[in-house]
Amino acid sequence: MSSLDTKQMAAIVEGMAKKIEAEKEYLTELDNEIGDGDHGINLARGFEAVEKKLPSLAGGDIGALLKGVGMQLVSTVGGASGPLYGTAFMKAGMACKGLTEIDGPAFVKAMEAAVDGIKMRGKATEGEKTMLDALCPALKVLQDDVTAGKSLKEALQDAAQAAEKGVEYTKTIIATKGRASYLGERSLGHQDPGATSSLYLLQVLAEMA
Ligand code: ADP
Ligand code: MG
Ligand code: MG
Repeated sequence: MSSLDTKQMAAIVEGMAKKIEAEKEYLTELDNEIGDGDHGINLARGFEAVEKKLPSLAGGDIGALLKGVGMQLVSTVGGASGPLYGTAFMKAGMACKGLTEIDGPAFVKAMEAAVDGIKMRGKATEGEKTMLDALCPALKVLQDDVTAGKSLKEALQDAAQAAEKGVEYTKTIIATKGRASYLGERSLGHQDPGATSSLYLLQVLAEMA
């Protein structure tokens, strides 16, 4: 599909909640290795709260929907990832203010706002072994594909593949942000939990768009 309306976006958010719930234990296992073992639990709690709120959020525009999702995540996820994912959805929502349908270029703007929000909030950049190592390469591919005239779905599929490579890349680098940074070189060889959850969210987008 080349665009998404509010109902489709709400269905995608529900899909994200289901995926996070399904992967909760694996994400927590990854966080056990280089963090405090709560990433899956944190996110699943947040997305469960989002799911409950969805019916009341799905009646308006996409901006209001995403902003509501972000606010819910901020107040329920906790940890480092709560404010980061929350900010991402809230910023994406602001970029979609008043829109009841978004096409490729509008989606790119929303994702740019989301990634910028995460960078600012976490004072991090690519290469620090965080969710940004999945999201930044995904955004780059999304921008290129949409500029080249590919459909939003195709662009999202390519973006998810780029994120997958990004997750692999996190195994090869030392964490310099978040809890994993306390481990220094001992973080090498481990896959970042936040990059992995970001990959899952992008995979749901690619599948359902
Ligand atoms: P906490 O570390 O507080 O327990 P979570 O376990 O929920 O929080 O989330 C950990 C994930 O958050 C990491 O795997 C990493 O991807 C991400 N993260 C941590 N700090 C930052 C940051 N400053 N910028 C971007 N992402 C970060
Ligand atoms: Mg943790
Ligand atoms: Mg924690």
